[in-house]
Amino acid sequence: MTLNIILLGPPGAGKGTQASRLEDECGMIQLSTGDMLRAAVKADTPIGVQAKAVMDAGELVSDEIVSGLIGERLDALGGTTSVIFDGYPRTAAQADALDGILAARGRKLDHVIELVVEEDALVDRITGRFSCAKCGEGYHDRYKLPKVADVCDVCGSTEFKRRPDDNEETVRTRMAEYRAKTAPILPIYEARGIVSQVDGMAPIDQVNGAIESILDSSAG
Ligand code: ADP
Ligand code: AMP
Repeated sequence: MTLNIILLGPPGAGKGTQASRLEDECGMIQLSTGDMLRAAVKADTPIGVQAKAVMDAGELVSDEIVSGLIGERLDALGGTTSVIFDGYPRTAAQADALDGILAARGRKLDHVIELVVEEDALVDRITGRFSCAKCGEGYHDRYKLPKVADVCDVCGSTEFKRRPDDNEETVRTRMAEYRAKTAPILPIYEARGIVSQVDGMAPIDQVNGAIESILDSSAG
């Protein structure tokens, strides 16, 4: 059965962490517009050049750019691959575009999983975030350190990196963007009866268990 799910929540809620677990444990594929944009910035593509300053400021890149990236990425996947949208949609226009993108490919949204978190915890989560420079595995200075100090659990690399936008000032702008533009799309999905809430303040394993139970409930 092919699933199409959205992980929704403010920056630092744990979307990327959980998407990566679902990739490993359920064979789903994570579609993160943030990761796609960071790759475009690194490769210095026209989209990357356009997006960089916007991302550094913590503001939102244009709806057309991110929806274009999602459509292209879906086309590169097989039609039966289950996908997790992480960091997309972030505006009502993107939610609308996603409906069209999915319908055109014979897909439909199965679940919107809202990671419910306390805003006060997010600055701490984001300023402590780092990742493996080689494989991208995500870590945290206090909540998820590598098992062996300074060695990536997944690939053994000793190089790590931090995101330029993971500083307190930018985080505040990103949270304000979430409140103003992204949180208001939840009612669209609530009206369709596809929203489930998960306590994002629980430990990582527990959040993962809660999400997989929701997905299992639609597997039968
Ligand atoms: P998002 O993709 O929603 O921006 P991340 O998955 O990157 O968020 O998580 C932000 C930071 O918080 C990471 O450093 C991650 O290791 C840590 N983190 C994620 N989930 C939890 C959790 N349930 N408890 C504590 N820390 C967490
Ligand atoms: P993220 O990795 O999801 O935290 O996204 C990092 C940054 O990329 C955001 O602060 C935005 O500048 C940009 N971005 C990622 N996804 C989107 C999106 N769906 N719409 C607009 N901008 C986005």
